[in-house]
Amino acid sequence: SQLLHMQKLDLFKEQISSASSKRIIITTHHKPDADALGSSLALALYLQKKNHQVTVVTPSDYPSFLHWMKGNEHVVNYEDAQQVERARELIREADIIFCLDFSNLGRLQGMEKSVREADAYMVNIDHHQDPDDFADFCFSSTKAAATCELLYDLIVKVGDRELIDKDIAECLYSGIMTDTGGFRHPNTTKNVHLVTAELIDLGADNSKISRLIYDTYSVNRLKFLGFALTRRLTILPDLNTAYFGISKKDLRKYQSQTGDTEGLVNYALSLDGIKIAALFTERKDGVKISFRSSEEVAVNKFAATYFEGGGHKNASGGISKLPLEETIQRFEKLVSENKHILFNQLALVDEK
Ligand code: 5GP
Ligand code: MN
Repeated sequence: SQLLHMQKLDLFKEQISSASSKRIIITTHHKPDADALGSSLALALYLQKKNHQVTVVTPSDYPSFLHWMKGNEHVVNYEDAQQVERARELIREADIIFCLDFSNLGRLQGMEKSVREADAYMVNIDHHQDPDDFADFCFSSTKAAATCELLYDLIVKVGDRELIDKDIAECLYSGIMTDTGGFRHPNTTKNVHLVTAELIDLGADNSKISRLIYDTYSVNRLKFLGFALTRRLTILPDLNTAYFGISKKDLRKYQSQTGDTEGLVNYALSLDGIKIAALFTERKDGVKISFRSSEEVAVNKFAATYFEGGGHKNASGGISKLPLEETIQRFEKLVSENKHILFNQLALVDEK
């Protein structure tokens, strides 16, 4: 298997070799976060330096606090009616398609079909569990904190460290910073710090990046945070659980933009004694759910079993087609029924 992997790595190197210019599409999951977009733009900048024609196509828009990244203005949004035809054509004609920061094609939502039908060499770079087997070359490890960390390691492995410039380093730094919760989560390994140090060495301005990502709230976003903390937080001390339930009306009231609910769930987890946190957000196609947990509790299986989702042990997500209130009632019941199981990481119970 090690040998097979080396052969596949050699084939991958040949595919991206600057000897022949390829048409390349890079994509990531719906509603990209900093790791998703940062890894995509970093890879695009790198492959452009290797002489390829590269386009980043995202399945949706993404938060404005990511718009500063180099190459942002060339990103094609598949959900933009003005751009979707061009996106389809680019995908159809691609020689190589990279799928970054996800490994279940369903997370492309409306874009899934186009990518499945494409006749390209497929590459998957990701750090989620149980990757689907769709790629010709898969570079994936759940030990990595971020796709950006893996991408750095891959570029070094290919022998191209010297192609990483300041812009690429800043995109990569962003994904590592946010996916480790600002270097606080249990995934903040020695390798994370080593890679981060290299990125700073390569020009990443770490304090500038944290300001651009964390300290660029609109007034509405800050007021919405205050509203959510005072009016929309429920604490269940007996279940070591706290959650936010946000309705469409709440979002409208604060003119919520993509990304405005980012990080909200962490406030529920910041409470002393709280080990399970959730955020329920009513969207047009159902209730989007974010789960977070302290190190001893695994929420990914819970999300996968009951909410058509998944993710990492301590940070996962899912979806519910029930109305907001019923979704929340069901969640409370499931946590209550599974409490000892969640805390001891045993098998989850069948829903009654
Ligand atoms: P967030 O709460 O920030 O939206 O997502 C946290 C993590 O949960 C993501 O990095 C991703 O791993 C996972 N996740 C979120 N939503 C979904 C989903 O709908 N399906 C799956 N499989 N994973 C999700
Ligand atoms: Mn990630």
